[in-house]
Amino acid sequence: MPAVSILIKPASSACNLQCKYCFYRDVANHREKSYEGMLSLEMMETVIASAMEYAEGSCSFAFQGGEPTLAGLDFYQRVVKLEERYRRPGVEIHNAIQTNGICVDKAWAEFFAKHHFLVGLSLDGPAELHDRNRTFPDGKGSWSRVMRSVQILEKFHVDYNILCVVTGKNARSIQKIYQFFKKQRFQWLQFIPCLEPLDQQRGLEPYHLSAEEYGDFLIQIFDLWFQDLKKGHYVSVRHIDNWVSMLMGNPPEACNMSGRCSIQFVIEGDGGVYPCDFYVLDEWRLGTVGKQPLEEMERSEVARRFVEQSHRVPQRCKECPVCPICRNGCRRDREVLEGGEIDLNYYCQAYFSFFTQRKRELYQAVQLILNRQRNL
Ligand code: SF4
Ligand code: SF4
Ligand code: SF4
Repeated sequence: MPAVSILIKPASSACNLQCKYCFYRDVANHREKSYEGMLSLEMMETVIASAMEYAEGSCSFAFQGGEPTLAGLDFYQRVVKLEERYRRPGVEIHNAIQTNGICVDKAWAEFFAKHHFLVGLSLDGPAELHDRNRTFPDGKGSWSRVMRSVQILEKFHVDYNILCVVTGKNARSIQKIYQFFKKQRFQWLQFIPCLEPLDQQRGLEPYHLSAEEYGDFLIQIFDLWFQDLKKGHYVSVRHIDNWVSMLMGNPPEACNMSGRCSIQFVIEGDGGVYPCDFYVLDEWRLGTVGKQPLEEMERSEVARRFVEQSHRVPQRCKECPVCPICRNGCRRDREVLEGGEIDLNYYCQAYFSFFTQRKRELYQAVQLILNRQRNL
């Protein structure tokens, strides 16, 4: 039995924001039923019981959306009680939540701190960048409200990290964003390239991120991070941490950097289980919690087909010197050929230019981090 990690969407695709680049709204709109309803406590109990039965060593629950706080604080209070009820000796339970921060108040922050929830907060830098895309349904920006949540989380000593979406504009403004994050003393950062709608040609959306922009972004964020590292100031940037760790001989912890898909157990509001947050689509439904054991879903024909599609290595990658670390990126960014075959990553040029231009510095960073770890 493995360590189990479950992603739960307790509020399905419902959200109190209407971000322009919201990939989940698009994914949900590609299903027969875009809103699957709020996850019931009965279903949540079944999720916890099934996960605990399957897990060995550790069992992680990551709540996300839509906006997962819309399920209400009561829901989570019941969740932690259920986790206690089903806890098995030798299995550690971890909870995390990815939120837009709009609902976060004193009561939420106290709860997160008390139950050691790791909070991921979505924030795209200073107001003028964040408010371009992260808006309320009336079009107003959400930056001021999110910054209020930052203060509340700080006040209650909640562990949190920042998730910033990389659009074309954000990529071009990375100096400004990084300086802003530094000024706020954020220590844990994640930068995720925006996703464009499924089945739509790239480049039509105003937030489009080109391969060239992403390549420049990767170099600039690395340089900013590396300058700080050399001064003895370590900031965690998830994708860079993964590359450094891979160069030390470890497997990446981020699925999108491992070169192939894995089954992640994403649970929708009706208990439906899917293999990846990016593919919560009818064709990839693995089953329903409580109807089939997770183990059976992981071994199902649909799961096998999903993983297998990511195994193809294009000829360009086979011959590419940076393939051991690049691995053709996340499958969601790979181009789909006529006939459905999955090919080269859309950001190939970005990865190639980053790894070839910053190879020496990456190894220097590995050395600095190893020295740092030795001195801790
Ligand atoms: S907060 Fe997240 S789920 Fe809500 S609209 Fe924005 S990107 Fe989508
Ligand atoms: S699409 Fe990307 S994130 Fe999803 S399972 Fe595949 S590699 Fe992982
Ligand atoms: S840089 Fe391009 S060719 Fe090389 S491994 Fe990455 S995606 Fe493949």
